[in-house]
Amino acid sequence: MPLALLVILDGLRRDAVSPDRTPNLWRLTQRGTSFPHYRSMLPSATRCVSACTATGCVPASHGLGGNATALLGEDGRLTAWDAGSPAFLPARRARHGQALFRPTLADRLAGHGGATIFSNVSPGAALAHDPNRSGRLLHRVLAHRPGQEEAPPSDITLDAAGDALLTGRFLEEVFPATGSGPALGVLWLGEPDASQHANPLGSPAAWAAIAAADACLGRVMAAADRRRAAGDQVLLLAGSDHGHETVEGVVDVDAELAAGGFAVGDRLVAASNGSSVLVYQAPGEDPAALLAFLRSRDWAGSVHAGAELHAIGQRPGAEGLVAAISMRRHNGVNAFGIPGQTLVAKPAAGKPDRLGCGQHGGLGEAEQSPVMVIEGPGFAPGARDHGAAQPIHLAPSILAFLGHGDAGQPMDGTPLQARPTQEPAA
Ligand SMILES: [Zn+2]
Repeated sequence: MPLALLVILDGLRRDAVSPDRTPNLWRLTQRGTSFPHYRSMLPSATRCVSACTATGCVPASHGLGGNATALLGEDGRLTAWDAGSPAFLPARRARHGQALFRPTLADRLAGHGGATIFSNVSPGAALAHDPNRSGRLLHRVLAHRPGQEEAPPSDITLDAAGDALLTGRFLEEVFPATGSGPALGVLWLGEPDASQHANPLGSPAAWAAIAAADACLGRVMAAADRRRAAGDQVLLLAGSDHGHETVEGVVDVDAELAAGGFAVGDRLVAASNGSSVLVYQAPGEDPAALLAFLRSRDWAGSVHAGAELHAIGQRPGAEGLVAAISMRRHNGVNAFGIPGQTLVAKPAAGKPDRLGCGQHGGLGEAEQSPVMVIEGPGFAPGARDHGAAQPIHLAPSILAFLGHGDAGQPMDGTPLQARPTQEPAA
């Protein structure tokens, strides 16, 4: 049976990959094809990228707009939502009849070998892979098998130790000693993202988290090799969902809006996505004055509205979306010599981001430079594909490998196998 594997080292920057720091990922670049122009989405944030990865579609199509977002009620009022909450996708289903507007890999592979997804990020991001309970999902606070909820594990922590434990369980279920495993296994690690949010990029703690995540990948690579030795075809995709930049300052966007005469509430929501902000307005409001105000702010690096929202994969008017702001940033280095410093928007709930530590969400160069390497049929060893690639291309590549079509529900992405932009190893 062919087996597709996707391993995500959450938050890993492309410039962090090296023979010393990430020996397994480095080895994989010799064995597979890497994508030097691989980009994240906007927001460059895990919940949004998880939904894009699962559906092969941009937020404009699947409907999960960001890590923090809004829902527009039937009464025309906005409610601010943290999409990391396990209650968010059920709330979307209650409002729209569907949690996501496009089928996930787990939906598409139900009855065709099935999908097993183990995730150590936020509950909402994990659930975005399989909100319909079509496959197997395991996370610290939620777990299910097809059609049936299960008690979540109590011993998985959001750190390197938790990732290692989760990796062991993943290997047991995806490579069972007896019987057959699923057609697709997704392992989404919490590191190095968690440590990079709490420590400066380039600090010993951040590098240790990167090494630990790379070791988890090494265990999956070894298991994949054993499967290949037994005669099965394996497609292994490994990389990250977004990078990180250093928090240089925190902006209270709600306070800024209030000072400009735009009070946030159920007619206006500014959802902080770290170094980006999604701005929603209730129907009937005129966005012109609001957009002019946002464009005049020195903390706004770029303001995307109307057709510019389409261009970044967002749908103007979705839940009242009027603008996406990428916060101002520059390429200057932090105390550890790591380039990329950005302003971030103060989150609505919880602690503001830590100055000097990592964050993401916007269009910054490092945030938009995640890693992707693919090993298997259609991906020449040591090759580099210089074409455009994003998380929306992963699901089509996985389905092409497994021999499943798009079953009448097309995806926005296309398969990455053997593209003309793939340059053989020198
Ligand atoms: Zn992430």
